[in-house]
Order: sequence, then C-alpha cells, then structure tokens
Amino acid sequence: MNLLASLLAVVLGWAPSLGGSETVAAQPPQPPAKVAQAEGALAGKVIVLDAGHQLGNHNFPAEINRLVEAGGFTKPCNTTGTATNGGYDEATFAWRVTGKLKAKLEKAGATVVLTRTSNREDRWGPCVDVRGRAGNTLPSGGRADLKISIHGDGSLSSGAHGFHVIYPPSRAPWTDDIAKPSKRLASVTKDALTGKGFTVANYIAGGDGLDPRTDLGTLNLSDVPTVMVELGNMRDSGDASVMTSAAGQARYARALAVAVRAFLD
Ligand code: ZN
Repeated sequence: MNLLASLLAVVLGWAPSLGGSETVAAQPPQPPAKVAQAEGALAGKVIVLDAGHQLGNHNFPAEINRLVEAGGFTKPCNTTGTATNGGYDEATFAWRVTGKLKAKLEKAGATVVLTRTSNREDRWGPCVDVRGRAGNTLPSGGRADLKISIHGDGSLSSGAHGFHVIYPPSRAPWTDDIAKPSKRLASVTKDALTGKGFTVANYIAGGDGLDPRTDLGTLNLSDVPTVMVELGNMRDSGDASVMTSAAGQARYARALAVAVRAFLD
C-alpha cells in the first residue's frame, strides 16, 4: 500500500489492526478500486512516443537531407514518409495514433514525452539523431522507460500488407545495452497488435512481423528499450482503409497501450 492509500485507509478506518486477539489471519483490507485507478497502473513511468515524420518535411529538402549521426555512420536528418494512394500522409496517421495512445497512457498515470508536438506543413524534423536520443536523459536526470516510434510503410509490391515491428539487435557500443529489452518490447508489441486483430506483414521481415535492423538512427542512438512499428502498408487499399479511419487508428492505439502495459508489468 502506498502512502496515499495508507492515509486513506487510516482516515476511512480500514487500517489493519496492529494488535488484538484475532487468531485467524485476517485479509488485509483492500483499497477501493477508485484509489487504484487514480494512481494508475503506469504511475511513475515515462514513455517516449515518436510520431514519425513531420508533415512538412517535403517542404524543407535542405534541412531534411542534412546528414546527422545515426549510430557509427551518418544518415539524412529525416525523410518525407509515405502516404496512401489517396494522399493521406503517413505523418498524419502517425500523429493521430500517437495522440490517441498518449491519452491512454496518461490516463493510466504515465508521463508521455513526444518528439514532435505538431503536425504541420510549415514544420520539419526532428532529425533521427534527436529522435534517437529522446528519453535518454530526462529533465529529472533519469531515463524514460521505453520509446515507440510510430510509422506506416509504403511498399508498392502487389498485395503487400500487414504490420512489422523493427528492433535494434546488439551492436556495441550502440545498442548492446538495449538489445535484449528491445527485443522483448518488439515481441509484446507484435502480440498486442495480433491480439487486436492486425495481421503480420506478408512482404517483409521474414513473415514473422519482427525485423532486427542496424541502420536506423532512431533506434541506434537510444539508451532506453525501443521499437519502431510499421503499423501497416499505406499503399495497400485494405490497410489504408483501416489506417485512415478513426476507428482503425483507435484500435492501433489500444494495441500499443496493451504492449506498453505488457512490457512494463
Ligand atoms: Zn516512416
């Protein structure tokens, strides 16, 4: 029982008796559900959500193409991301899922840190090095508990559909510290997505939905467990109809919230 619950218990008269003549082991009084809910299952946890590419990246080619540190090599700061054939941007998809997920995590008591706080045509970035380092050092001095980078893929292969989860394998000195928990995060994320009815990608990642990659600055520079989710193929009409709908975006957010809970439990 934490301090708040203890105080409530005392105030409301539920404190376990310290003495007395009971011979049967008494069940400790349970704090009311209301208190447990207010504290939240994710209280004290800090989660970084990286909502992929900024909407305006295509308007800033010089800024976006600037080379930045990506984990022992350099890469362009960012890319424009993809879109559905109907023109619905990956940036907007990632932004909407991130917003819904953020609300769920905060409701459960977590602190959520965003790598971008707008979805605008007149903004760009942040670069992959900034995304990669997000959460490594919090203002409090500690580290975030995990980081999820949210994307949609853009494969033009006929019939390509489904999600895959990218994680950093161990590569010293970059990801050897986070490889093991990141792989576990990838595994619970895959399970959470399939649990909410999403199907594993049929065109990439060997068919099991799990894709170890060493070429992504967003993952390489992280000191906290991290995955990048490609939640579907935006060029596939079936995936696109889910990815562009509010109901579909909410279902992705529910799945990712389940993954966060599963990883941190
Ligand atoms: Zn992307």
